[in-house]
Amino acid sequence: MLKKYKLNDHVKMKKPHACQTNEWIITRMGVDIKIKCVACGHEVMLDRLKFEKKLKEVLGDNNEEKKN
Ligand SMILES: [Zn+2]
Repeated sequence: MLKKYKLNDHVKMKKPHACQTNEWIITRMGVDIKIKCVACGHEVMLDRLKFEKKLKEVLGDNNEEKKN
């Protein structure tokens, strides 16, 4: 099943992070995908295939208003 995600989306992974939080933000999308843990700020870089395998749910970007 193909899941749709984009930059700045909040996502849930199959396994929670070591800090027990299971919500991440996509901070970079290219050949590799970088996600940042919303609780502790830890960043992880994964290739797309690994990312999609570990991805559980796309929460979207409307949890957080970005105003610059
Ligand atoms: Zn964390």
